[in-house]
Amino acid sequence: MLYLHNTLTRAKEEFKPIDPNHIKMYVCGPTVYDFAHLGNARAIVVFDTLYRLLQRHYPQVTYARNITDVDDKIMAKAAETGESIETITTRTTQAFHDDMAALNALPPTVEPRATQYIGEMIDMIKTLIKKGHAYVGEGHVLFNVPSMPDYGQLSRSTHDELIAGARVDIAPYKKDATDFVLWKPSTKEQVGWDSPWGRGRPGWHIECSAMAAKNLGEIFDIHGGGLDLRFPHHENEIAQSRCVHGTTVMANYWLHNGFLMANGEKMSKSLGNFYTVRDLLTVAPGEALRLALLSSHYAKPLDFSIEALQAAKAKLDKWYGALRVVNWTPHTTGKPNSEIEDALLDDLNTPLVISHIDGLVKHVHARRISQGGGDEGVKNELLNSAHTLGLLQQSPEEWFRWQPAAQTGPTESEIEAQITARLAARQAKNYAESDRIRDALAAQGVILEDAATGTTWRRG
Ligand code: AMP
Ligand code: ZN
Repeated sequence: MLYLHNTLTRAKEEFKPIDPNHIKMYVCGPTVYDFAHLGNARAIVVFDTLYRLLQRHYPQVTYARNITDVDDKIMAKAAETGESIETITTRTTQAFHDDMAALNALPPTVEPRATQYIGEMIDMIKTLIKKGHAYVGEGHVLFNVPSMPDYGQLSRSTHDELIAGARVDIAPYKKDATDFVLWKPSTKEQVGWDSPWGRGRPGWHIECSAMAAKNLGEIFDIHGGGLDLRFPHHENEIAQSRCVHGTTVMANYWLHNGFLMANGEKMSKSLGNFYTVRDLLTVAPGEALRLALLSSHYAKPLDFSIEALQAAKAKLDKWYGALRVVNWTPHTTGKPNSEIEDALLDDLNTPLVISHIDGLVKHVHARRISQGGGDEGVKNELLNSAHTLGLLQQSPEEWFRWQPAAQTGPTESEIEAQITARLAARQAKNYAESDRIRDALAAQGVILEDAATGTTWRRG
């Protein structure tokens, strides 16, 4: 039984799917104007872990995660660099895909792009006007918040708090301070589409309402995103979708991941306290970033530091070291044991899963000293457990070959040549020479490990 903390009810609830044969989940994806930072990656990795869990328990899961490829931030970037919007969004989308693949995030089932759904957005806005939930003012179309009596259920704010929270200009064309934009006019130079209200472009919130409805239907199971999206973005998605479709909910379960923090503040572009995923991938392998992101419960804030990243890398060195001990072989997927799965079914308790794996790894290393040798059962348990988190997805050899971009250690073929030379020296009983080779490699950050099956190496 899966339990999830539902922001809508502020409680941990048993997950009851609309159709147990087909689960539908929507997660707000990136606005593609710049490289993703680690805060952005947290949402992707958290919901990827949930997606993997859902796939193990239900026959079909449709996971929609959008790309916002029309936005004022993208337009600002184009104005700044002189590039076309398409050049920026294509390049940034590719970089996003590459970065998320490095974090072992599976591609979503569908990845709608906002610009492909302008027609659907216009249709929804027309319906909102017809039903008296939206109005036109100076080329804008606005959603009229007081027209929806139970607006604000997700953020549970009063009208005054909404005004303060929205931090919006009290524009003259607004009937109420909390009203938000569905459509805005574009100048000749700005990107735009023809509409009944003149040439313009959509507001951000309507994009997700249109893409979610088209791909998942009027009501679906799970909607996710970062905590900062709860208000106004998700509140407004709910308002638009419910008022268009005449439904009582948009999605049954709303999940929000907590912030990734750097020195006590939310990591964000605007504060400038961010690390891009791309830069961090030169400091540690993608799996270390992923482990660091899953080391805290998803709903809580998570402090990030380079030290924490290095600790995650060191932990994975131990895990991959254990895989060597149990004679890693390519693995076909199997089910994790119930301890691991129960932890995940309990609102994605990833820290508990990590500590279970740590226990298993300790056991392997301890046994190595007392008995040595591989163990198929333990190997499978280790892999099945770690795969639930999207970890231990490569061979130990690949893992230990990784080196930071800035490091200029010996190349793989140089290391292999030295290992061969050392073996020859040992066979000739020239131990002074074989020790010299080992020490020389150690001085260059390469550690040799001798076992009955031969010598392996890793960068230390
Ligand atoms: P933004 O780049 O601010 O539009 O955010 C894109 C996505 O990343 C949204 O889902 C945000 O909730 C999420 N996000 C941004 N910053 C953080 C952070 N520091 N911690 C967690 N999630 C974040
Ligand atoms: Zn959204």
